[in-house]
Amino acid sequence: MAVKSRIVKGFISLPYNWSMGPTTTRFYEEFKNKRIMGTRCEKCNRVLIPARSFCSGCFVETTNWVQVSDEGTIRTWVLINFSYEGQPMAPPYITGIIDLDGADVGLPHFVGGVELDDLETVAKKVRIGGRVKAVWKENREGHILDIDYFKPIN
Ligand SMILES: [Zn+2]
Repeated sequence: MAVKSRIVKGFISLPYNWSMGPTTTRFYEEFKNKRIMGTRCEKCNRVLIPARSFCSGCFVETTNWVQVSDEGTIRTWVLINFSYEGQPMAPPYITGIIDLDGADVGLPHFVGGVELDDLETVAKKVRIGGRVKAVWKENREGHILDIDYFKPIN
């Protein structure tokens, strides 16, 4: 006789503190002045964002800081229309990977400033390869959400 498995529902809450270290701390502090800073690898020449203290491809320390644009191109995007635990905002909303001008690593963030009622209109305004610009909060605290979202600009 086969034994049927039981499922027990539970909930885990795990508050934590995370030390960002000096490189990530500076990356976010620069947001207060609307600057997105990366670090350049001297070996492969890639500009990494968020700024990193070493290149994960070359395993060399990165000490050269460079400012990248707050404009870029949408590499990919998705419209989130369902709820899940820990969600950053109530759906619907769009997240995407933004290839900022001057950076060689995509930045995951929100794409916004677009009415989400009509999917055909969304697909016309938010598209892979489309240009976007950061919409900064007026009061910035040195946090990834100092950028409200990236707005399509073409
Ligand atoms: Zn490298």
